[in-house]
Amino acid sequence: LSLSDMVEARRICVCVRKRPLNNKEVTKNDIDVVSIPGNGTLLLHEPKQKVDLTKYLDNQVFHFDYSFDESSTNDLVYRFTAKPLVQTIFDGGVATCFAYGQTGSGKTHTMGGDFSGKSQNNAKGIYAMAAQDVFALLKQRRYSGLDLCPYVTFFEIYNSKVFDLLNKKAKLRVLEDEKQQVQVVGLQEMYVSCAEDVIKMIEMGSACRTSGQTSANANSSRSHAVLQVILRRRNQVHGKFSLVDLAGNERGIDVRSSDRQTLVETAEINCSLLALKECIRSLGMDSHHIPFRMSKLTQVLRDSFIGENSRTCMIAMVSPGMSSCDSTVNTLRYRYIENKM
Ligand code: ADP
Ligand code: MG
Repeated sequence: LSLSDMVEARRICVCVRKRPLNNKEVTKNDIDVVSIPGNGTLLLHEPKQKVDLTKYLDNQVFHFDYSFDESSTNDLVYRFTAKPLVQTIFDGGVATCFAYGQTGSGKTHTMGGDFSGKSQNNAKGIYAMAAQDVFALLKQRRYSGLDLCPYVTFFEIYNSKVFDLLNKKAKLRVLEDEKQQVQVVGLQEMYVSCAEDVIKMIEMGSACRTSGQTSANANSSRSHAVLQVILRRRNQVHGKFSLVDLAGNERGIDVRSSDRQTLVETAEINCSLLALKECIRSLGMDSHHIPFRMSKLTQVLRDSFIGENSRTCMIAMVSPGMSSCDSTVNTLRYRYIENKM
């Protein structure tokens, strides 16, 4: 049994990825307080003070299905996280991959890739690699007879509102019918004929996501971005893969000095991440009650939390610096609730 077979056998996989210290952190003499001693473990060396104010490092161990250190590539992370889920949608299931972590921890680098030109490590992200694998499987003989047609949607959820990234950020309504089927009304679903088509959509949508960002405008780190690859068969949904770049879960927002907009955003983000945790937990417990109405995010992803054939992967991203410690602890603890299943 290979490692990726083992991932495939599980419904929920929770991993962690540490990025390298960046230039800014190095310049500020920030120190690296995260180490990955072995596959699946992470050590956090959290600086603390005793009552008599002597300083010490509190070493905490966290366990994950996989842990990726700062030398790991997007390609390696993809192979153990999202890649095994591509099969799920061909088998008629719903697959979901979340990138979780504070702003600057590497969510977009991991999901969307890094083609900014600013960084030397131009790296394809999980979006593009998943798209390539979808088209590779479509060509395989066992699936080519199924008449599967691939489509893409790309949207953003900001302050409980849905915006279409493939249609000039049009604001969309979310409706639920009597069978609890959730619909995003008017969401553009684009037919794609090759992986390059998908990559074009991703570039278009990502540009749309960050355009017009001013101080008075939504910052992309305060919104969730959802890319979906949908396989249709005779116009019915056969399988669906949602790849979610979550809003930053940063700690330590100063309530007194923040403006109203920031406080509202933060409250919305906390609420949706809590809802997500609850929904993932009920997925793990085969619960009949899934609290998907708790947030817009979980409502539009309802299909991810129901059914026999749902597979979910969560990649927690952490910044290595001591200055990020509070957010890092918060990110690392998020999974423990899920683990109690
Ligand atoms: P987030 O989306 O979580 O806010 P980003 O993905 O934008 O964070 O990453 C912040 C910065 O760190 C970017 O400049 C990105 O290129 C860099 N970065 C993130 N992860 C890595 C990594 N694993 N290796 C190298 N650089 C990274
Ligand atoms: Mg980002």
